[in-house]
Amino acid sequence: MSALSELCGEIARCQLCEIAKYRTKAVPGEGPEDAEVMFVGEAPGWHEDQQGRPFVGPAGQYLEQLLASIGLKRGQVYIANVIKCRPMGNRDPLPTEIHNCRKWLERQIEIICPKMIATLGRYSMAMFFPGKSISKIHGTAQKQDNIIYYAMYHPAAALHQQSLRQAIEADMLKIPTLLAEAKTVPEAKPQPQQLSMFEE
Ligand code: URA
Repeated sequence: MSALSELCGEIARCQLCEIAKYRTKAVPGEGPEDAEVMFVGEAPGWHEDQQGRPFVGPAGQYLEQLLASIGLKRGQVYIANVIKCRPMGNRDPLPTEIHNCRKWLERQIEIICPKMIATLGRYSMAMFFPGKSISKIHGTAQKQDNIIYYAMYHPAAALHQQSLRQAIEADMLKIPTLLAEAKTVPEAKPQPQQLSMFEE
């Protein structure tokens, strides 16, 4: 069994948060272990909870269209979320849930070693671009430890708002160039209070 499948098994057995009791299935993430690009959303919704797979509802269909616009199929990228269980009633993830789930995403990143992590929405952005505002930084990239971090709006938000839709579509189109010209992406400035991207 691959390291990634073993990790997904561990995630599926996790009981750290109250919401684990109410899930139909945990949603660890899916995609190839050697994916160049990793997309990180917020949390599973109803469809994802039913199937145990990320982005399989309307937002997922739109994400697939966006990927197709740059010649990618969903099976070529890794898709995960900040938290792996569906919050009841589709509420926002709680800080404790984000904290408990953080190690899973860190280990996924360690195993996959992607060239780029594209964050989808505010919660995912906040993990890698703390203190930033999505309306200001969407469509911008920064590099740290050889990974390009790229902020994008969430496809579910963009589906229903024309201005965000234009933005996410334009931002997606920049990905191939960023990957091809990775060397030109600026290095993130180390922040005094935050030595690691994953420290709080
Ligand atoms: N929204 C997310 O953030 N993640 C999913 O998996 C589905 C919808």
